[in-house]
Amino acid sequence: TTVLGIESSCDETAAALVTGDRRILAQHIASQDEAHRPFGGVVPEIAARAHAERLAPLIEATLADAGMTLDEVDAIAATAGPGLIGGVMVGLVTGKALAMASGKPLIAINHLEGHALSPRLADPDLAYPYLLLLVSGGHCQILLVEGVGQFRRLATTIDDALGEAFDKSAKVLGLGYPGGPALERLAASGDPRKVPLPRPLKGSAEPHFSFAGLKSAVLRAHQSGEHADADIAASFQAAAIECIIDRTRKALKAVSGVPLNGLVVAGGVAANTAIRTALEGLAAQHGLPFIAPPMKLCTDNAAMIGWAGVERFALGQSDPLDVSARPRWPLDPDAAAVRGAGV
Ligand code: ATP
Ligand code: MG
Ligand code: FE
Repeated sequence: TTVLGIESSCDETAAALVTGDRRILAQHIASQDEAHRPFGGVVPEIAARAHAERLAPLIEATLADAGMTLDEVDAIAATAGPGLIGGVMVGLVTGKALAMASGKPLIAINHLEGHALSPRLADPDLAYPYLLLLVSGGHCQILLVEGVGQFRRLATTIDDALGEAFDKSAKVLGLGYPGGPALERLAASGDPRKVPLPRPLKGSAEPHFSFAGLKSAVLRAHQSGEHADADIAASFQAAAIECIIDRTRKALKAVSGVPLNGLVVAGGVAANTAIRTALEGLAAQHGLPFIAPPMKLCTDNAAMIGWAGVERFALGQSDPLDVSARPRWPLDPDAAAVRGAGV
């Protein structure tokens, strides 16, 4: 099987050809970081226009790299949400047009499912069920992944996503956009014990995350002028990791009756080495394999969308050509809303 994956839900325009035996035949990613940097965050209008300009040539280049035509592809998988509606529409409409022209099935993919299944693209031994920490620019959730489309959400953030907390803290420290990777680099030269910062919801009876208070404390620490930026960065990262480990340990306890095949991390923030190391230790304490996708599969890409397409295609699934884009699209529709937090 070969599936063409298309991703355009945020600020990466991407296309990839992925096979059923886990090969990425070709892939292209065009980042819009430069376009959004002056604004310190993603500007939806600019993003949608950039996706529209870049996507078609990028798909052509991906097919050319693999030496393939659309006729040789088995299905077209496009992100249909959640994300910025303008960008999602560009990718989904392009996917529909290609499906119509080629007569190949269209598979509408939930971007979060792309992240959630990406560890299985890299690791053929990772079987369902597994416990997933999904940490990205817009989400911070712990999910029990029982199969394709089968997710049980155990925890979510009641305010900011983890990637958002990294990006906003990085902005305070003048590290630019997107700030997560830069903050991690700066933290490496700082002292994580220097700056006293809160660990929101650590040890609390509820299962959820909160990062808004931590982000505000970073701002106050910076404004006080008493601390070196590197120490603030290191202390922020240490506090965030303590929260993540505490919440994930609690989730592991909550599903202690489930025969888990691994503790898994995915999403853009999974590219953070300190977080990976801490989770690896937690997994070892529980006698679980720890699985994290390679760095390049953590942040937004189309290979993970193509792979989710491969998994759904193998189950005989596809979508009608009038399938709608869904700017909001929870992985677990049964999960109760948390204090007005987004999905
Ligand atoms: P979502 O997937 O929730 O819709 P998104 O697609 O915008 O959001 P991703 O591309 O999955 O998010 O992840 C981007 C986020 O990951 C950004 O917030 C970025 O700062 C963060 N990030 C990337 N690398 C690192 C790192 N090394 N350390 C910390 N954060 C990182
Ligand atoms: Mg991005
Ligand atoms: Fe993402």
